[in-house]
Amino acid sequence: MRSSIKKLNKSFKFVINLIFPVYCLVCKKELSYQTNTYLCDACRKSMIPITGKSCNKCGRPFINGICGICREEQFCFSKARASVIYEGSARECIRFFKYKKKTYLLNTLFEVLLLPDSLDFLGCDLIIPVPLHWIRQYSRGFNQAELIGRKISKRFNIKLSRTSLKRTRATPSQTGLSLKERTKNIKGAFSVKSSQKLNGKRILLVDDVMTTGATVNECSRVLLQAGAGEILVYTLARGA
Ligand SMILES: [Zn+2]
Ligand SMILES: [Zn+2]
Repeated sequence: MRSSIKKLNKSFKFVINLIFPVYCLVCKKELSYQTNTYLCDACRKSMIPITGKSCNKCGRPFINGICGICREEQFCFSKARASVIYEGSARECIRFFKYKKKTYLLNTLFEVLLLPDSLDFLGCDLIIPVPLHWIRQYSRGFNQAELIGRKISKRFNIKLSRTSLKRTRATPSQTGLSLKERTKNIKGAFSVKSSQKLNGKRILLVDDVMTTGATVNECSRVLLQAGAGEILVYTLARGA
C-alpha cells in the first residue's frame, strides 16, 4: 500500500514537472522532478566552503596566521568566521535570497554549507543580527541577518535579540568602497537600546556577508562600549 502511494506520488510529481518545470535559480538548467531544492548539483558543488586556512582573527580565507589587514587594523570583535566564499553560485543565491525575497533559499544554503567549528557557537550567550534601518527593512520586508540568526538560534538554542542593537542612520551603499571609506560611512550608524541585557555577555553578531568588516566592526564597537564582554562574528559568506 505504502509503496503504491509512493509510486503514485512520484508519477504525480513527474506530471507536475512536465507542466511546470523547475529550473536551477543560478544557471537556469532544468532540474529533475525528484529534487527538492532550487539548485542543480553543479551549482551546489561550485560553492567554495571556508574549511581550510583563514586569518585567525577576521577569517579572511587562504591566509596562514594573521592577515595584513588585521595587523594594521584593530578590529573590535575577537573572531569572525564565515561558511562560504562570496563568489559564483553562493553569491547568486545570497543575492536572490536578499534582493528578490527568495527567503526559502536560506534552507538550501544551510543544507549545503557547514558552520565553522572554530567559532564556538555554544559558548555564546546572545545572538544579535546586524540591524537594517527601518526604512530599508520595511521596503525589503525582512532583515536577512535576522533570518540567518534565527537559524543559528534554533540550532544551538541561543537566545536572539532583535531589539538590543538599532540602526539609527540609513547609510549609502558600501559597495565598491575601501575599508577606510566604509568605516567613515558607517560611523555612528548604530546604537544600543538597552545596555543591561549586554552586560559582560559573549555575543554572536550575525550578518549575511562580510567584505571589509567595517559594518560588523562598528556594531562590535558600539556593543562593547555598552558593556558587552566579547563579540564573535558569523556571516554566511565572506569576500575573499
Ligand atoms: Zn545550476
Ligand atoms: Zn584578518
